[in-house]
Amino acid sequence: MERKKRIVVLGAAESGAGAAVLAKLKGFDTFVSDAGSIKDKYKAQLDKYGIEWEEGHHSEEKILNADEVVKSPGIPDNAPLIVKLRERQIPIISEIELAGRYTNAVMVCITGSNGKTTTTSLIYHIFKSAGLNVGLAGNIGNSLALQVATEQHDYYVIELSSFQLDNMYDFRVNIAILMNITPDHLDRYDNCMQNYVDSKMRIIQNQTEDDAFIFWNDDPIIKRELKKYGLKAQLFPFSAFKGNGAVAYADEGKVIIEKPIEFNMEQEELALRGTHNLYNSLAAGISANIAGIKKECIRKALADFKGVPHRLEYIATVRGIRFINDSKATNVNATWYALQSMTTKTVLIVGGKDKGNDYTEIEDLVKEKCSALIYLGVDNSKLHKAFDHLGLPVADINTGMKDAVEAAYRLAKKGETVLLSPCCASFDLFKNMEDRGDQFRKYATEL
Ligand code: ADP
Repeated sequence: MERKKRIVVLGAAESGAGAAVLAKLKGFDTFVSDAGSIKDKYKAQLDKYGIEWEEGHHSEEKILNADEVVKSPGIPDNAPLIVKLRERQIPIISEIELAGRYTNAVMVCITGSNGKTTTTSLIYHIFKSAGLNVGLAGNIGNSLALQVATEQHDYYVIELSSFQLDNMYDFRVNIAILMNITPDHLDRYDNCMQNYVDSKMRIIQNQTEDDAFIFWNDDPIIKRELKKYGLKAQLFPFSAFKGNGAVAYADEGKVIIEKPIEFNMEQEELALRGTHNLYNSLAAGISANIAGIKKECIRKALADFKGVPHRLEYIATVRGIRFINDSKATNVNATWYALQSMTTKTVLIVGGKDKGNDYTEIEDLVKEKCSALIYLGVDNSKLHKAFDHLGLPVADINTGMKDAVEAAYRLAKKGETVLLSPCCASFDLFKNMEDRGDQFRKYATEL
């Protein structure tokens, strides 16, 4: 009997466990290996489908005999096992690549340095409200592979990180959205910005004339990159302003989308506020327009979207002080947009695990918008160097969120805003960015 093809899945969280189920159901000899511990939920999922798995180590003899490996996006390319697999020329793909082989659904994919989750959630909300049979996947929702294995959707709205794109080769994106490209995760790209840029641009790699490419028209990096590619897809550049070839923009208080079907609505009616959210609404509106969703449906859904937790999330007003949770701002650019959208003086809680930040980018905005700063991190020395010279009241907190919220509350005046928008990853004091935001919510509502 012919030997079954062997697929080994490395990493058993949402994407890996889903990929394993799909591989198994498609008849592959499937094995899952996770060097850490696997959550009970995923163990149960693997057991349900009779998939062999291991945790706490990688058994090379069970991995290096794979015909193909599905790698979780969290595993870096320089991990010793990945290096060995490459030496043996065993193909390594992402879960999204695997899933794409087994569905003909329309793929709406969103990438960029900032705005992915918001835009992905907003598009899903519009498509769902319009009654389309749509699945949400990628970095949010259930894994694409699991949905392809166990459900049938006509559309998938997929948030793609650069790490997922890195191991995508033949996957074709029907509606591609590139929000922006600013430095992030450079530690995973040999500290070379171009490597990160190339990774983001992979979103258009298999597009044809029948596909659409939606992108921010004013991003200098995207503009430069586009010249290098023989683009086949139809282009939908968006901008905050009319002109320069943008086909979607804001003009005289209206949100305008020129094509494929003319669309407009009052900017005031958009559920999401701030310039960055205008971009997110435009990108979402264009993709819904391309999918043929009726104008009234798009208008209604752009107006009644509830937002995503930890992204400029309103928490509470305590004695006239508004508390806003933007824990997801894990790079300087995200905090730039958060500060820019503030309409009152702001006490900014900033800090955490620095990924090589250049704080000069937000210095002018801090000067303009902030009334005080709370540095929240194990090591705040870089923040002192960056901002102390501005002469604002500063509190240095290295204990935790409770003290940070209390310090912010003490320093804020009535009518001001306390904004958690840290510019940094959360791992020094918190489990993850959700934990950081949840603690902020807890202590702010307990004041
Ligand atoms: P991602 O999934 O790419 O990390 P999110 O939608 O989770 O993006 O937003 C992360 C943070 O980035 C938000 O807290 C917000 O302050 C900022 N942000 C959101 N959309 C944009 C955008 N289009 N451009 C720049 N910054 C944005």
